[in-house]
Amino acid sequence: MINRFTITSTAVPETRPVIRITSYALAPGRALRQLFPRLMLLMLLTVVAMGTARALSVPDLAREFFPQANRVGEFEGDPLAAPVYRGDQLLGYVLRTTDVVRIPAYSGEPITLLVGFDLAGSITGLEIIKHAEPILVVGVSEQDLKHYADQYRGVSVLGKVKIGGAPREGYVTIDGITGATITAMVMNATVMRAVQKVAESRGSPAATREPAGGQEAAIHDATGMADGQPAPVWWLGASSEPFWVSVWRERAWQIAVLAVALFVLTLILLFQDWLTRRPRLLTYFRTGYLVFTLFFIGWYTLAQLSVIHVLTFINAILHQFSWEAFLVDPLIFILWAFVALTLLLWGRGVYCGWLCPFGALQELLHQLAQRLKIPAWNFPDVVHERLWAVKYVIFVALFGLSLQSIGYAAKAAEVEPFKTAIVLHFDRNGIYLAYALGLLAIAVFNRKFYCKYLCPLGAALAVPAPLRIFDWLRRRKECGRPCQICEKQCEVQAIRPTGEINPNECHYCLDCQVTYWDEVRCPPLAEKRRRREKSRQALDRIMVSQGNDTAATATGKEV
Ligand code: SF4
Ligand code: SF4
Repeated sequence: MINRFTITSTAVPETRPVIRITSYALAPGRALRQLFPRLMLLMLLTVVAMGTARALSVPDLAREFFPQANRVGEFEGDPLAAPVYRGDQLLGYVLRTTDVVRIPAYSGEPITLLVGFDLAGSITGLEIIKHAEPILVVGVSEQDLKHYADQYRGVSVLGKVKIGGAPREGYVTIDGITGATITAMVMNATVMRAVQKVAESRGSPAATREPAGGQEAAIHDATGMADGQPAPVWWLGASSEPFWVSVWRERAWQIAVLAVALFVLTLILLFQDWLTRRPRLLTYFRTGYLVFTLFFIGWYTLAQLSVIHVLTFINAILHQFSWEAFLVDPLIFILWAFVALTLLLWGRGVYCGWLCPFGALQELLHQLAQRLKIPAWNFPDVVHERLWAVKYVIFVALFGLSLQSIGYAAKAAEVEPFKTAIVLHFDRNGIYLAYALGLLAIAVFNRKFYCKYLCPLGAALAVPAPLRIFDWLRRRKECGRPCQICEKQCEVQAIRPTGEINPNECHYCLDCQVTYWDEVRCPPLAEKRRRREKSRQALDRIMVSQGNDTAATATGKEV
């Protein structure tokens, strides 16, 4: 059966939530507790409104891809594709990529694109019709997606397409999508492999650019082309290499740099006692590492971990697990592997204290504020202990939402400012930018405010904290009773007034360990030093008096 084209226009209503600012004449703690749920709701409403996408039917899109066409056939054959005609003349095919190849993307789900290609072997159009990619739901504009798709028009199905970077001989270079490079690479592999497979199936297995005379009939039979129409020009050699392998090869030097950095961090952690006795050296190492984390891991390679990775992983385990989905971004994969290992050995703090780009940005801003003598403030313990529970509530809410739909969870996960501040380099507007900048402004005064109270990823990492095998952070019996120095010094407020470190909240900054070894600031150690100095002085006095006696004897004086 043939579908006649009907030209329809789909009006997409644009809805924007209204932000009403209410003044809070309440105690700060209570006001914040009331404000957070409202902010969450507002965020959710906004992202749901932004997730609205263009929804055109297959015939509408096919008409966009083939402006001269007037009818489209059913999806049929193996692999499925629909022929597009003008009268009886076959113009080309449209196909849904997931009918042909299924390359999992970030979300673990493949992206479905509708692609058209003509008999000359050129792609005539491309449209994303279904996906669960968090980064495409939020943070990438319709315009960016359209620009990405438009670049495929005219690209040969023979072509080797490369996303971004310097031009390479034999390759067509296409701009990626800012902040969604891996997703763009997955889409590229999906599109190119799908069109090549359909081209192969509709042509002849032996057909190349110039089908042999005897093959013309077979091609015409297979494609349903009208007699006398020229045979299609299709290339049949699709790559059989798994997609993730080519991504790892492409990003080899970034992988190498990250591997070296993780090795250095492991050394820092293993020799932390040696380093914390040399505070100046530790400060250089730590500040340098945070700068590296922010610029290389964050802004350059965009390897910011997100709670969405956790939810996707859980979802994949519950449904259909595939390593390939997690291997598509090598840096994210390596970071998660390292985080899993350090969670077992050191706890959640290694990621939050050293490897999280947004955490590093907050930390560096706070350090700068300290140098500028901007006063810091912390909530009283009683407020702090209630506020830190908020991040666990957010995580549980996101988890619940992800069981319903990972797409909804991805939208709600905009509570993380990572996309705005790291992935999109602040190139966003409206509420997202205000939210990210607001959190950073608070972090200037209140160290890692977002991490302490709001971060669902931090909460997710804290859940397995009790599985930690070792306690590497040293404590004395005097810690907490009576000494409160570390407790006051720990600005993420991870040390209880009783002196124990709360591993769920510790960011492994090692500040308390520097104090632990500090013979001036740590009272038990200072006491030991005083006693040691006293006995040394006493010993010196004895030595001096003995020396005097010996001298007197030698000179014949009376002893
Ligand atoms: S709590 Fe969240 S933002 Fe803070 S360092 Fe950890 S993961 Fe990063
Ligand atoms: S000061 Fe100590 S307890 Fe506090 S975050 Fe740093 S390492 Fe953890």
